[in-house]
Amino acid sequence: MNNRQLFLSHLAQTTDFPLMIEVEKAEGVHLYGPNGEKYIDLISGIGVSNVGHRHPKVLQAIQEQLDKYLHLMVYGEYVQSPQVQLAKALCETLPPSLNNVYLVNSGSEAVEGALKLAKRYTNRREIISCVNAYHGSSHGSLSVGGNEIFKRAYRPLLPGIRNIRFGELEDLEFINADTAAIILETVQGEAGVRIAEYGYFQALRKRCNETGTLLILDEIQAGFGRTGTFWAFEQFFIVPDILVCAKGMGGGMPIGAFIANKDVMGVFKNNPLLGHITTFGGHPVSAAASLATIRVIQEENLLAGVELKANLFKELLKHPKIKSVRNKGLMMAVEFESFEVLKPIIDRAIEKGVITDWFLFCDDAMRIAPPLTISEKEIREACTKILEAIEG
Ligand code: PMP
Repeated sequence: MNNRQLFLSHLAQTTDFPLMIEVEKAEGVHLYGPNGEKYIDLISGIGVSNVGHRHPKVLQAIQEQLDKYLHLMVYGEYVQSPQVQLAKALCETLPPSLNNVYLVNSGSEAVEGALKLAKRYTNRREIISCVNAYHGSSHGSLSVGGNEIFKRAYRPLLPGIRNIRFGELEDLEFINADTAAIILETVQGEAGVRIAEYGYFQALRKRCNETGTLLILDEIQAGFGRTGTFWAFEQFFIVPDILVCAKGMGGGMPIGAFIANKDVMGVFKNNPLLGHITTFGGHPVSAAASLATIRVIQEENLLAGVELKANLFKELLKHPKIKSVRNKGLMMAVEFESFEVLKPIIDRAIEKGVITDWFLFCDDAMRIAPPLTISEKEIREACTKILEAIEG
């Protein structure tokens, strides 16, 4: 059997329609197949390779760590340079109140940690989240998800969770003195890039302050430069109590974090109650890769190009079949009439060598979230092929 057949027979599937792109190598914005295929990856793995695939500085950091050690002990016991240096570098990108980092393996685990921390710190049980939110696939993170179809089969999920509408001021009334935390994405990703007003975030912060509710922002997709600032919340002039990140954080390696004030995080140390324990969380190789990723974003001034590149996409992606383009920086959703119109366009674009995708909770919009390193030439080439794919 060849790899494609083995993929379908032995590897558990997550969908009836896998993209089935066979990849042998990836570099920068490109993926390469075994038979000379070459694709522009407009979705960065899946929102991961913000600095491009196999960035040389990330590879170098990984190699240097490989030469030292791979794994030693459960996170938080041994003093390990990659972890402490990463924590310091992360805090330097953040307002002073966010000064304590808990490193984990993934986005879902970071959300789990954040929810547990909010419950421990506030001694409250209720959590509010948003309609159409995606926070992960584990039971806790699924519980705060905002899509009933995805949740139905797994009930009972966590009790005490209420979904409110994202961006709707009047729903902030539901946050009250029993609410441990509200968790939301700064920019809703899987809902198809949904953006709330500046005023919404101001009111949200105020309401959380009044009720003693912790504000958890999930920047697993929007963080690490994706929206043009290092963190998307910078654009709304608020500071969360707990920040959650992953995906782009590792430059292609698995790592996540939830970040809070040292006083808040301190409750996890109060024995005999377990806080959060993770064997592989903050894996030294991933931590080294993550530190290098932060440095690449800073030293290559990647944030400065995001808005220009996003505007170029918007200028080029004009076609009667494109209804609108929603974006926050290079987190973009290109809206079509329906899934039936979009699906063949995505398929034809892949045949032409451009990889896009749709969203979990929005199947009439094309996902575009390229590496921030993409060049003007590559954007022009990709958009030409997308327009050809639209024409049929
Ligand atoms: N939150 C958001 C906003 C996400 O986009 C994702 C991943 N799509 C997650 C959480 C879950 O992250 P992971 O797949 O690493 O568990």
